[in-house]
Amino acid sequence: MAEIVIASGKGGVGKSTLTSSISVLLQDRKIGIVDGDAEAPNLHIIFDVNTWESEVEYREKSIAEIDYSKCINCLLCKETCTYEAIREKDGIPSIKGYVCEGCGACKVVCPNDAISIQKNILSGWIRIGKTKYGPFVSSELDVGQPNSGKLVTSEKNIARKWVIDGLIKNIIVDSAAGIGCQVIASLSGATHALLVVEPTKSSLSDLKRVYYLAQHFRIKSFVVVNRYNLNPDFSELHDFVSENGLEIVGKIPYDKTVAESMAKRKPLVEYDPHSPASKTIHEISSFVDTLLS
Ligand code: SF4
Ligand code: SF4
Repeated sequence: MAEIVIASGKGGVGKSTLTSSISVLLQDRKIGIVDGDAEAPNLHIIFDVNTWESEVEYREKSIAEIDYSKCINCLLCKETCTYEAIREKDGIPSIKGYVCEGCGACKVVCPNDAISIQKNILSGWIRIGKTKYGPFVSSELDVGQPNSGKLVTSEKNIARKWVIDGLIKNIIVDSAAGIGCQVIASLSGATHALLVVEPTKSSLSDLKRVYYLAQHFRIKSFVVVNRYNLNPDFSELHDFVSENGLEIVGKIPYDKTVAESMAKRKPLVEYDPHSPASKTIHEISSFVDTLLS
């Protein structure tokens, strides 16, 4: 099985455009598609998926709850909480549920056993859908909730089960931006990473961070440069690539049809198969094809 992650240190560099178009072009290769951005999922919009085959609540969060019939307002809990998840008004404590980590320290210090830890609080949803190109799993983190990385791991586990069941042979993950929990979850256990970068200093700086993270997981990485013609002489990027023995597997030109395809809720290569960006994505897909099982 190949598990290929499309990642970038910086948001808005074209990961979802690339993921959706590769999914279209390699649909005969039995690929399962994972939207690895639980905080801002968007692949379902590009795939125009409006209904889900299944949706399950994701309950991982624990939070403290105060039994006010037992509380003697000593505020030891507030003093103990290092997360500042307990506020006080008129001498009465209350829990800030969106901040509480459920660590239980307040429960330990409470002299009157007034605090309990409530488990299995709703923190998001995992959704399974169908696209024309393969099975699709997405998720959405509830506002202010933690555990986005665990959500992405759960999504990937669903896709891996599809591989075991013979439904698919390969997985493609559209990672979140940055190097946070969701990206760590996306990269963990992956076989290859396509790192998308733009020819700018800030994008290169972010590329380095996600590359070093991929290195930590010993994942073979390749580079895709998006909007490369906006700064084709950006030598720092080429220096970094050659110093680290990386390979640029695609240079996608700036192309106004990318934004148009998003507005029409269509993968770029379907919206305009002959646009300049589409042509390069065809080449990148041919390369990705060589990595698949
Ligand atoms: S469970 Fe932990 S984070 Fe939550 S209020 Fe208590 S001490 Fe603070
Ligand atoms: S430590 Fe217990 S008794 Fe004291 S204020 Fe907190 S909940 Fe109330």
